[in-house]
Amino acid sequence: MEKIYLIFLGPPGSGKGTQAQMLSAKAKLPIISTGELLRHEQEKNTNKGKMIKEIIVKGKLVSNKIVEAIINKRLTAKDANKGMIFDGFPRNKNQLRHLTGKLGKNNVYAILVDVSDKEVKRRLGGRRMCACGATYHLKYNPPQKSGICDLCRGKLFIRNDDRPKVIADRLKLYHQQSEPLIDYWLKSKRLIKINGGQNISRVRKDIEKKIRNLGIKL
Ligand SMILES: [Zn+2]
Repeated sequence: MEKIYLIFLGPPGSGKGTQAQMLSAKAKLPIISTGELLRHEQEKNTNKGKMIKEIIVKGKLVSNKIVEAIINKRLTAKDANKGMIFDGFPRNKNQLRHLTGKLGKNNVYAILVDVSDKEVKRRLGGRRMCACGATYHLKYNPPQKSGICDLCRGKLFIRNDDRPKVIADRLKLYHQQSEPLIDYWLKSKRLIKINGGQNISRVRKDIEKKIRNLGIKL
């Protein structure tokens, strides 16, 4: 039987991580997020794990070679015998070449949760945090009193990652990295494009419908 591999793409704030989790539960396919795999490897405290820790502490990117070795191992794990869902991998053309080489002629599709830059800025730029751990959004989940936490009365602040300049940089990086990948999936007719500007449950329904239309049972 052919295996099913689904690869999620989308900008920060698109909700693709949440969608990947929900689809993983529905399709009973395990989910690979490179971030999680790297963390897991570090926790095991293997030689490779120590090496990764050192690279990350220095603020450098983990090399393709290391990421690929970890992915290879994960692909052959027992729970991956029907296929797998990817979140955050492949991130560049080298990783893409590696993965498509590995997956060969199985059912491989990319799911793009498409959200405009304007919407990403609105979503991320409106987020407010409290030191107690509570999170708010100026539009979607505002505090009762502007700038003050409902739970602890603390003063709300903006996470560094959510500052306009940082959001703009993250978006720029996203476009640079992902456009060649989107182009590849489009040309090989394996791109499933979803309107990520809708609410979570609509996005979810659209993803499931389009996957069923490919003849994949959910
Ligand atoms: Zn608080």
